[in-house]
Amino acid sequence: MIRYTIIGAGPVGTLMGLLLAQRGHPVRLIERRADPRGAPPPAGRSINLALAARGLKAIEQAHLFERVAPHIIAMPGRMLHELNGALQFLPYGQNEREVIYAVGRDRLGATLIEAAAAHPGIELQFETRCLDLDPVAATLTLRDERSGATHCEPFEIALAADGAGSAVRAALAAQGYTRVREVPLAHDYKELTIPARGAAGNGATWALEPHALHIWPRGGYMLIALPNVDGSFTATLFLARDGDPGFDRLAGDLSVRELFAQQFADAARLMPDLEGQFRAHPQGQLGTLYCQGWQAAGRVLLLGDAAHAIVPFHGQGLNCGLEDCRLLDQLLQQHGAPAEALRRFEAERRPDTDAIAAMALENYVEMRDAVRSTQFAQRQRLAAEFERAFGGRFIPRYSMVMFHPEIPYREAQRRGAEQERLLDAFVQRFDYGSLHPPGLIYAQQLLQAAGL
Ligand code: FAD
Repeated sequence: MIRYTIIGAGPVGTLMGLLLAQRGHPVRLIERRADPRGAPPPAGRSINLALAARGLKAIEQAHLFERVAPHIIAMPGRMLHELNGALQFLPYGQNEREVIYAVGRDRLGATLIEAAAAHPGIELQFETRCLDLDPVAATLTLRDERSGATHCEPFEIALAADGAGSAVRAALAAQGYTRVREVPLAHDYKELTIPARGAAGNGATWALEPHALHIWPRGGYMLIALPNVDGSFTATLFLARDGDPGFDRLAGDLSVRELFAQQFADAARLMPDLEGQFRAHPQGQLGTLYCQGWQAAGRVLLLGDAAHAIVPFHGQGLNCGLEDCRLLDQLLQQHGAPAEALRRFEAERRPDTDAIAAMALENYVEMRDAVRSTQFAQRQRLAAEFERAFGGRFIPRYSMVMFHPEIPYREAQRRGAEQERLLDAFVQRFDYGSLHPPGLIYAQQLLQAAGL
């Protein structure tokens, strides 16, 4: 059996290792950080993520859903917080299955690592950093993070899941295999904690509705909050690096407390230590990574964020990386020789990762701005009515991305654009009226004309 070496034991590397080990391959997972099992979560950085159908399907493929399930919280819709404090709940889908889930990043990571550690075919090597890789000689340069000692090792197949700052990608780029273009976003982010009400472990409850993704959309910027299982929320402020308001000004004349009191008053009241957290927590940067040449010499492949990091506004970066694992597993099954599967992976997958990169950027404008308009809610209602009336022929784009892993991202993007044109035409004649005849008949004609 071929032995796989995986660089990076984040969620993507670990899930890929589990899928390969379940097919009988010996796997070695190399991770620069210390073993996360049993370690307390880093203070003030209980960062969480939205997990959706694509990620869950890959987790199910590795038979891990039961292990992950206790750590997830269903979020069936967005809770909009208006400036005057009014709340508006906008459901994401049509039924109780069309929900997304909040999950703690550390909890998810530790759960996958525990499963990998329990598998006899997987060897875990922590505190080992990959410094370099030579695809032709098939060697890795590794450094022991405790002793600082460096050594070289051979590998058969290397899968690089070492994240957005991938050292393997840098090595491949330096050797001419890979071309990389990074497009930074002009907006940064800051994570803050809304503490639980009551003592931890002793009837602690959430200070906001836990079954919702909370958004404070303010046009050019926004605050969001996702629930954690311990009763807290992780809130994230997305704001221009420089501007009015911008992170640069928060350090100067406009204080953090002022901005929050003016724009996010209900959230500010729930964060007594707002300024302290703001000072202590890092200001994170965001961007999109466009990379070509994911594969080298038929024995090295980039996966997950290492190949295609995106901005977080569709909640799909991790979902997309976990889907990479399921699809690569499928390709490896189809091709006897892994070299062929590795070569085909980028050709099959990059049109989809390019599509989700574009949709994730578009969704920032939707989340921080468009959701505020009455027209947005009306259009969402009309789209949901179309979906109910026409079954699989019309599915809102958000739903295709979040709830329909059988529809590739590029297809969701293409159909989404067709559907937008169709809704425009419908609204021109019937405004945001309902789909009763004669609207229904016109809608049918539009669908037919659009080839949907
Ligand atoms: P990582 O999670 O980055 O894991 C890489 C691993 O490799 C790490 O463990 C690292 O220590 C290790 N490593 C790195 N370099 C080396 C080296 N040289 N040698 C050895 N090991 C190394 N995605 C979603 O799906 N939903 C969301 O709601 C969401 N929200 C997000 C919010 C924010 C603010 C951000 C920044 C991202 C968000 N994402 C979200 C994206 C998501 O976090 C990433 O897509 C995901 O973590 C990628 O997983 P990965 O395993 O490819 O990389």
